[in-house]
Amino acid sequence: MTRPADKPETRLEGIGVSPGIAWGPAEILGKTLEEPECLPIPRSRVDSEKARFSLALVATRDQILELQKEISENEGENHAAIFDAHLLLLEDSTVLNEVLRITETELKSIDWAYYTVVKRYIDSLRKISDPYLRERAVDIEDVAKRVLKNLRWTDHGEGDSAEPPHSSVVLAHNLTPSDTVSMDRSRVRGFATEVGSATSHTAIMARSLNIPAVVALHQLPEFLTPGDTVLIDGYHGVVIINPAAETITEYEGLAKKEREILHDLEDLKGSETLTADGKKITLSANIEFLEELSGVTEQDAEGVGLYRTEFFYLSDKKLRTEESQADNYRQVAEATAPHGVIIRTVDVGGDKLCPELFENPEPNPFLGWRGIRLSLDRTEEFQTQLRAILRASAFGKVRVMFPFVSTLEEIRGAKEEVERAKNELREENVGFDENLEIGAMIEIPSAVMIADHIAKEVDFFSIGTNDLVQYITAVDRVNDRIAALYQPTHPAVVSMIRETIEAAHRNGIWCGVCGEAASDLDMTPIWVGLGVDELSVGAAQVLRTRRALSRLDSNECGQLTEKLRECGTAAEVKELCHAMAQDSYPELLL
Ligand code: PEP
Ligand code: MG
Repeated sequence: MTRPADKPETRLEGIGVSPGIAWGPAEILGKTLEEPECLPIPRSRVDSEKARFSLALVATRDQILELQKEISENEGENHAAIFDAHLLLLEDSTVLNEVLRITETELKSIDWAYYTVVKRYIDSLRKISDPYLRERAVDIEDVAKRVLKNLRWTDHGEGDSAEPPHSSVVLAHNLTPSDTVSMDRSRVRGFATEVGSATSHTAIMARSLNIPAVVALHQLPEFLTPGDTVLIDGYHGVVIINPAAETITEYEGLAKKEREILHDLEDLKGSETLTADGKKITLSANIEFLEELSGVTEQDAEGVGLYRTEFFYLSDKKLRTEESQADNYRQVAEATAPHGVIIRTVDVGGDKLCPELFENPEPNPFLGWRGIRLSLDRTEEFQTQLRAILRASAFGKVRVMFPFVSTLEEIRGAKEEVERAKNELREENVGFDENLEIGAMIEIPSAVMIADHIAKEVDFFSIGTNDLVQYITAVDRVNDRIAALYQPTHPAVVSMIRETIEAAHRNGIWCGVCGEAASDLDMTPIWVGLGVDELSVGAAQVLRTRRALSRLDSNECGQLTEKLRECGTAAEVKELCHAMAQDSYPELLL
C-alpha cells in the first residue's frame, strides 16, 4: 500500500478499545449531512427531478429492507427493529410535501430541497431538551444520508456512482447503534471515532466482534480527507493517516506477529485455565445477544459469566414477554452446558435508556433509576423476568445476578421476589432449579463497604469494574473529556476490589470480575494476586487471558499486590503490574 506522495504521515493518539491492527482506504461516515450544491433548475426539469426523488426513496427503502433482513438473520430481530423507525421516516408526508414544494415553486434541485427540509427538521429536534427526541435526530440523519447518496447515484447516470470501497477502515464522529449493528464485518477492517470511551457500548461491541478500534481522537476531522489511507493500531490507541512506507512495513511485521499469536493460542482450546502454579480460575465470556453464543463456544470459554439482558427492554415492549425471555434464556443455558450462564437481571438506566426513561428523563441518570432499583419498583416486570430465568434453569446451569446493588435491603427484596416467583411456579407445577444460585454485582462503593453483609445473603459476587471505577473516582465512564481520569488501576479501586474479594472469601462464597478490566492483560497479575475465582471477558479475549494466566505464579502475584498497598497513584500501580505482565507474556502485549 502506498501513500500519495504529497500527503505527510500524521499520527493521532486516542484510546485503544479493541486490540488489533488494520489499515485500508478510509470510509468517512459524515458527522453531519453534507450540503449538496443549490442548483437552479428549469421548469421543464421539475418532473424528472420528482421522478429522481421517487427512485431514490424506493432505492433507500429497498436497501433498508435488505439490511433489516440480513441483520434479522445474522443478529436477531431485536437488532433489526431499529430500522422500522427508519422506514417510517421515508414516508413522512410533511417532509416529502415540503421537498416537492421547494423544487416546484422555487425551482431548486431536489437534492438541495431534500437537504434543506431535513436539516431544518434535525436542527429543531436537536434543540429540544428531551433526550428521546434528540436521539430521533440521529435516525433522521441516518436515513437522509442514504437518500442523498441514492440521489447522487440516480443523477442522470452521471455524478458519484462509485460503490463504496470494497473493504475499508470506517471513521466517524461517533457510531450510532444502527451504524454499529449494520456494519458489514467482512468489509470493515477497523474503526476510529472522534468521541467515545473504553466502556461505551460501541467499544464493548467492537471487542466482541474482534474489530480493531480506537476512540476519542479529537483531532481526527482536522487531518482527514477523503481518499486517505488510514492505519488503526488498536493495541496502542494510535491512528496513522497516510502512513509512510516504512510505517506500513513496521506494522506488517506487527500484524504478522499477531496472526502467529492467534494461531499459537489455538492450542489452548480444550485446556483448563490454570496459573503457572496450578491455581484454577474460571474463565467465562460476556454476551449481550444470542448471536454471540457461537463465539463463546468457538473460543472455548467456560460458559457465560455475564449475560446482559437489557436488549429486551431497550426496544420493543413485545420482546419483554415471559415466553420470549424463557425461550431465549433456555437457548443460552443449553448452549453453555455444562458450565452454564449467569443471567444478570435488567440493568437499564444510566446510558442505557428504555422508552420509559426517554419519556421521563432524569437530571443525573448514572445516579438515578437504574438496575435493581428499577426492577424493585416495577415488580410485575421483574416477576416476568425472574419466572423466565427460573424456567430456563430446568434446562441447564443457570445463575441469576442483580445489578447496581447499593443497599442490603435491595438484595433482600430481590431475593423475596425470587421466592415469590418460585412459589408461583411450584403451584403451577412448572419445573426449575430449586437451588438456583443468586449473585450480587459489586459495582457501587457502598456495596463494597457492606460486602460482608451482602455476602451472607448471596452465593457469589461479580465485580463490575466498569461502574465501580466510575463511582469510586467520580469519573463518568462515557465522558471522553475526562477519559484520562478513568483509571482502573487507581489505588482506591484496587483497594476496594481487594476488600470485596476478601469479604467474599471470609464468608465462603466465590468472587468474579466481569467488567472490561477483567481482560486488561496489564491487570491480570492483580486478579491472580488478589485471589479472584472467575474472570468473565469478551469472547475474543478468552484465549489471550488463558495464556496470560498460565504464565503467572499466584505467590509472586500475591507479593505484587502486597506491594501495591504502597502505591499512591494509578501510574505506579500500572507500572508495577505492567512490568510483571511484560516479563511473563511479552508476546501478548505487542
Ligand atoms: C460493569 O459495570 O463492569 C459491568 C460489567 O456492567 P455494565 O458494563 O453493563 O454496566
Ligand atoms: Mg455495571
